[in-house]
Amino acid sequence: TPVLLWLRRDFRFHDHEAMAAAAKTGAPVIPVFIHDDQVEALGAAAKWRLSLAVEAFAESLAEKGSKLILRKGDSLKVLQALIEEIGAGAVYWSRRYDKPGRDTDTEVKSTLSEAGIEAKSFIGHLLFEPWTVETKTGGPYKVYTPYWNAVKGTDIPPEVKTVSELRVPNTWPESKKLDDWTMGAAMRRGAEIVAKHVNVGERAAQSRLSNFLRDRLSDYKTQRDVPASGGTSGLSENLTYGEISPRTIWHAGYHKMAEGNQGAETFLKELVWREFAWHLFFHWPDMAERNWREEWNGFDWRRDNNDAEAWRRGMTGEPFVDAAMREMYVTGTMHNRARMIVASYLSKHLMTDWRVGLRWFEDCLIDWDPASNAMGWQWVAGPGPDATPYFRVFNPETQLEKFDKDGRYRKDFIAEGQANPSETATDYFEAIPESWQLSPDQDYPERLIGLKEGRARALAAYEQHKG
Ligand code: FAD
Repeated sequence: TPVLLWLRRDFRFHDHEAMAAAAKTGAPVIPVFIHDDQVEALGAAAKWRLSLAVEAFAESLAEKGSKLILRKGDSLKVLQALIEEIGAGAVYWSRRYDKPGRDTDTEVKSTLSEAGIEAKSFIGHLLFEPWTVETKTGGPYKVYTPYWNAVKGTDIPPEVKTVSELRVPNTWPESKKLDDWTMGAAMRRGAEIVAKHVNVGERAAQSRLSNFLRDRLSDYKTQRDVPASGGTSGLSENLTYGEISPRTIWHAGYHKMAEGNQGAETFLKELVWREFAWHLFFHWPDMAERNWREEWNGFDWRRDNNDAEAWRRGMTGEPFVDAAMREMYVTGTMHNRARMIVASYLSKHLMTDWRVGLRWFEDCLIDWDPASNAMGWQWVAGPGPDATPYFRVFNPETQLEKFDKDGRYRKDFIAEGQANPSETATDYFEAIPESWQLSPDQDYPERLIGLKEGRARALAAYEQHKG
């Protein structure tokens, strides 16, 4: 009897435990993707990028003579219907670690098992599943460095070999059409502009990794903080959709470290920040909604407001902030240093609730990851575990002097005042909704607030809150 391989965020053949196990049964394997409520709820850019991942993976399966079955609806009901239609005896999948996902999977597992169907889950998109790492006294880690020290020496199992073939069934169940789901519809911005910057699929992810290791890893330690340098891997986009496994990246980086490459340990540490984010998110599933430190609950954040709207539009008059916000709009990603700076500016200089920013990121990022996004925002704004203290306010001007010495980042994304603006800078104006009524010929905006003044206002509010 056939095995259903339920794919969610694991669009690859290499190092895919669930797929390898399904292939090993020798039974026909039916790969299925379900457009369920969780997919429906995704932000605009993430939903669109997911459709590209699904499309690319369907093509790769077809190249191997297999097929991706697409269905829409409640996951359990869809799986039950498929089991009934094709007489499947088993459903395999890669685990997820977010609360809604886990709840669904637990229900699926118990309902199917009761019905005599083998429901089996395998390690998903992490190196260290959250419950496997505990402090000496028990319980989760709250601080990164001890977490890193606890996991860094772990013997990580080797990658699972690429699945080269999946046995096909005699007849395929019916599949819906991806185009009918119009998963790009919510992209108010022109998807065709963001499309210039995406790197879709397993092959693209693997070459991204090898190019990075060959060309940029040695300088990663210094270049990773310079937004215009292209000094980072860009792999977050592919990790988000499971087009590459963290284990593949870990082993490749580890190998480089053993060879004495200077950047390798720093890179692995960054990869483990993602693990730490999921560790936290697993233990505190409401991290995207609630202040991790309760004492922040009474803090007088401003709710959404006109300044925040200017922030979203990249029109704050603060070049680092605006370049970064426009970068996100045009490319679907934003450099890590820039993420920290725009988050600090919104939550401190503009005194606006970090959740306002978190939601905008959720809508705009093609590498949107609920755990890393929540950890990042809480870390910068102050309420998070292991967060920067509130009085540490990034100064976007001095940050520019340090990390954009030659002004390239500004030139890449801010067209106003340039005789020959770059394509990415003018693309911004192509991508935004007409209703924003912005053009590259306008003057660059005045500052929303003086940097000293904004800082002082934030610190005063903080002092008052502490009482
Ligand atoms: P590289 O420098 O090449 O790092 C390699 C990998 O390590 C990354 O792909 C990523 O998986 C991981 N990593 C690196 N830095 C971090 C970090 N600070 N936290 C967690 N993992 C990290 N990352 C997301 O993937 N999705 C998000 O939605 C997201 N939102 C963020 C929001 C804020 C406010 C902040 C400050 C950070 C956020 N990050 C998020 C983390 C980080 O900015 C990105 O992972 C990074 O910019 C991705 O670029 P890269 O792949 O070139 O990174």
